[in-house]
Amino acid sequence: MRQNTLLMPTLRDTPSDTEAISHQLLLRVGLIRQLAAGVYSYLPMGWRVLRKIENIVRQEMERTGAQELHLPVMQPTELWHESGRYADYGPELIRLDDRHGREFALGPTHEEVITSLVANDVKSYRKLPVNLFQIQTKFRDERRPRYGLLRGREFLMKDAYSFDIDWAGLDVTYKAMFEAYHQIFSRCGLRFTAVEADAGTIGGEGETHEFMALADVGEDTVVTCSSCQYSANLEKAISGSGPASDELTPGERSASVEKLHTPHTKTVAELVTLLGVQAKDIFKTLIYVADGDPIAVVMRGDHNVNETKLLNELAVTTLELADDVTVMRVSGTPHGYVGPVGLTIPIYMDDEVAKRVRGGIVGANEENYHLRYVVPGVHFSAYRQGDYREVQAGDVCLHCGAPLQFDRGIEVGHVFKLGTKYSEKLGAKYLDVQGKEQPMIMGCYGIGISRLLAAVIEQNNDDHGIVWPKQLAPFQVHIIPVSVKDSAQVAIAEQLYKQMLTAGIEVLLDDRDERAGVKFKDSDLLGIPMRIVVGKDAVNGIVEFKERHDEERLTLDQETVLAKVLALAQR
Ligand code: ATP
Ligand code: MG
Repeated sequence: MRQNTLLMPTLRDTPSDTEAISHQLLLRVGLIRQLAAGVYSYLPMGWRVLRKIENIVRQEMERTGAQELHLPVMQPTELWHESGRYADYGPELIRLDDRHGREFALGPTHEEVITSLVANDVKSYRKLPVNLFQIQTKFRDERRPRYGLLRGREFLMKDAYSFDIDWAGLDVTYKAMFEAYHQIFSRCGLRFTAVEADAGTIGGEGETHEFMALADVGEDTVVTCSSCQYSANLEKAISGSGPASDELTPGERSASVEKLHTPHTKTVAELVTLLGVQAKDIFKTLIYVADGDPIAVVMRGDHNVNETKLLNELAVTTLELADDVTVMRVSGTPHGYVGPVGLTIPIYMDDEVAKRVRGGIVGANEENYHLRYVVPGVHFSAYRQGDYREVQAGDVCLHCGAPLQFDRGIEVGHVFKLGTKYSEKLGAKYLDVQGKEQPMIMGCYGIGISRLLAAVIEQNNDDHGIVWPKQLAPFQVHIIPVSVKDSAQVAIAEQLYKQMLTAGIEVLLDDRDERAGVKFKDSDLLGIPMRIVVGKDAVNGIVEFKERHDEERLTLDQETVLAKVLALAQR
């Protein structure tokens, strides 16, 4: 391709209001432009790379036997009522009415549509298993669209849905998809890890894994064991219990609950200072509102609530910390002095609190007072007890006892075992060998294609621009004649260009009448893996060769440079 007419509007400066490096580079290189918050146009170079990602995804999906189809974006919301997700999905679901007043949603995902399709058209075990995928624009009215393509409101996704006759069949399909995902992300040159994940609103009964691209800008935290294979999203992560609780001293054993005057001491840190105790000696009580009802959670003072675990335990759709008015209403005291003793709302007690044989310090439900020597199960009882704790630095692996590591990750893919959640509700049943009706066992598998593009850039850049992995680079070679007014330079550049085209190499020729500095800057920004500069030595048939990831510049004759390019392109 010739650069002279190429629409690639590069920007010299970093655009304002952009935090993520990938967002900055996507804009600076002229790969995307924003139309509205979280809504982007893909320009020719950006689209070219996206198509490469799509092709890799398509090839690996087809290798597993999955078939590509294309489903409508417009989905009648009756389907969402049938699946029970209409309310669960909340304001992320973009809704609109047609001229007859019938309500539609713009597909944020396609479980409902595909399940109803398969329900109508597949009736017998003979037609199963079947695995169907599409690559399509999805719509989600995200609360915080940000970081450019990393969290858009309109974005590209590959979504696949599998239908098996039983769980054993789903296991096989799931494994094949899991492996295909490994292939896809490896071929995209990504550093990633697969983690155990929480099922979220898509729900389902079975296993689920997320594929995380490791990058500081990632919104997820990946917890991995430094020794064994354990790896989980922080939302889901569990850890071995900390050191055993301290034994009661004889004095403490006989002590009864004691009321302490603790004025202006609302936080764990302030209590620690005032009383000279450790944070783990305090049981903090948090009031949440879960689907409208207040509940209390009791945690050790040095631990944090994992709201995903709590949400799952409560089986509710909304969970938020209570406001001051609610806290006052349920405990009779402002924030900071709430405790479990005497509370009448359901108390959810974390396992680590239950484990302590030694009494703890809690709020007295009276302003400026706390209680000490409060023993769980004796002075207050829990409605439920469970693991509501967020794993934290210093924790060890539950499986092998080695230290856990924490990294930031971008979720680029997600695989789920859904089971019968959708097939039951939307009637996807088949007749088995005995002629008996059975629900199909489903799985679903997503990859954020446009997010993946951003994740790859997040991992592959330097101060000058993008450094594309070869497989995704828009072109393999960038030929730059320093001056298009120099006939010797133009002649060699054109010759090399044609030779490479003939050899099937993807090559971009910078035939613009621009200053050399501008051309080099744009070339570095765009990040094509190999660069050939045709300069003043062109009269002697000599050019300069450089790889984008390397500083070394080689001076080669025309024939040698061609051979070099061919060799590297094949690798
Ligand atoms: P997240 O937790 O980041 O919101 P999700 O759990 O909602 O993701 P899924 O419903 O599993 O995502 O969607 C499948 C894939 O689509 C994700 O793994 C991710 O790569 C991509 N994706 C999801 N939401 C967005 C978005 N707003 N912008 C770009 N890609 C997205
Ligand atoms: Mg989401």
